[in-house]
Amino acid sequence: MSAVPRFSAQTDSFTEYAEARNFIGGAWRDATGGLPSQAVDNPRWGRPIARVQMSSAADVASAVAAGKAAQPAWGAMPIRERAQVLFRAREIMLRDLRELAWLVSHENGKIYAEAEAEVLKGIECLEYGCSLPNLAAGELLEVSRGVSCELTYEPLGVVAGIVPFNFPCMVPLWMLPQALVGGNAFVLKPSERVPLSSLKLAAVFEEAGLPAGILNLVQGGREAVEAICDHPDIAAVGFVGSTKVAKLVYGRACGTGKRALCLGGAKNHLVVVPDAEPELTVDNVVASFTGCAGQRCMAASVLLAVGDVDHILAGVAEKAARIQLGTELGPVTTEAAVRRMTAYVDEAERQGAKVLVDGRGKKGTEEGFWFGPTVLDGVRPEMPAGREEIFGPILSIIRVSNIEEALHIENANPYGNASAVYTTSGDVANRIMGAAEAGMCGVNVGVPVPREPFGFGGWNDSCFGQGNLTGWDGFRFWTRQRKITRKWALQKDATWMS
Ligand code: NAD
Repeated sequence: MSAVPRFSAQTDSFTEYAEARNFIGGAWRDATGGLPSQAVDNPRWGRPIARVQMSSAADVASAVAAGKAAQPAWGAMPIRERAQVLFRAREIMLRDLRELAWLVSHENGKIYAEAEAEVLKGIECLEYGCSLPNLAAGELLEVSRGVSCELTYEPLGVVAGIVPFNFPCMVPLWMLPQALVGGNAFVLKPSERVPLSSLKLAAVFEEAGLPAGILNLVQGGREAVEAICDHPDIAAVGFVGSTKVAKLVYGRACGTGKRALCLGGAKNHLVVVPDAEPELTVDNVVASFTGCAGQRCMAASVLLAVGDVDHILAGVAEKAARIQLGTELGPVTTEAAVRRMTAYVDEAERQGAKVLVDGRGKKGTEEGFWFGPTVLDGVRPEMPAGREEIFGPILSIIRVSNIEEALHIENANPYGNASAVYTTSGDVANRIMGAAEAGMCGVNVGVPVPREPFGFGGWNDSCFGQGNLTGWDGFRFWTRQRKITRKWALQKDATWMS
């Protein structure tokens, strides 16, 4: 029986939940080391629904020791048997979809429909993991007369993942399927702001039959992350979060000889040209910058308006202004985020931008952390709102006269997560898609998240390390390749290879 209680909420009503503890070696344990626990706020109601324990380096060491003890037996199982756990986990997640989605909604603040979409996307990642036994066949070739080379994918041992607050259920599932089916033991460090979904995920995998010690949770913040980077028995670290921390984790983990892939922040640009289809563009742009209250690394942040697209911009402003806080748009995660967003809009206004739609001071509940959809016109690329990640439902419009100017502005920005163009011209689309400095691009798609089996990962300051975190690249990241060269006595005279 799992020690994780059911989350009983069926609506947005304030509902308390269990304290977030560590799950190590198949048992729920308290963090050690004396760091004070922290509140986990429900952003809609602005008060804590739970507390999260903060782990020390000793807790990380316990999790690694549990992983190290359990991994050899797990890694020795045939891949098909390991994948069976994921098939069962998928069924359990579908059975508990509403509970998982309400939990995500309460701890993160996103509205229920967005939370359910997040859980479903996590399930899609599990399905990719289920398919790995059919994809992960190695390679074999006769490389010389009587001599064959074979390539196999082997576990790394104990690996770790560090995840952000904005997708508490999905982002762990960007890593776990490939890492677990690849035969590793995993140490997951959830965001201390949203640690509760990870409790349910651990319970799901436990019920699905994952052996004790193969998935370990270490709750906490910076201390736990630094201990993960430094631990000599962790072979690889996956990270998703802000660019500042991604760089720190990448440097520190690589510095101790680990493999690391660290996805960072974003400043995504959308290019809108005059021939864009108005209705599709308006709907997409608004959904892109307001969805999940703008707290998506794939959210639109800058709209590069090429020439006269005023009819589309008017539609964007009108639609954004109609969005109802509370039912259509959730809160942002902290009070500090509200202050940060307010400061960006104040500063843009001070520097001459026009606030077409003003989300400052808007609220969905009296107590929660809210910021309404905001559209700024006349932003310049050098303004903070034009170049920095804000991570809220704020769209900065920068006016340009042609697509070359749009590309210049977009590509001068150090981030490189997503880029999109709205046009009915294939020629324009090809020009932008061929030159944008971004890893994930959309044509008339505002949130161009690659669906499985395509891998998720940006470029430049949005990603440190090589390749994508999901899809086939993810499997390669969490495994190492063994090359076996064979020759037999009966063929010994047939080749020059010794
Ligand atoms: P964050 O960088 O503050 O935190 C991410 C993780 O790092 C958390 O687990 C946190 O506990 C830990 N952490 C925070 N500060 C640390 C420090 N100084 N040292 C060591 N560890 C530390 O990010 P966040 O606010 O949780 O998430 C939002 C950010 O994540 C945004 O920048 C967003 O763009 C980015 N993000 C990127 C992707 C992507 O795929 N590129 C996806 C989701 C979110």
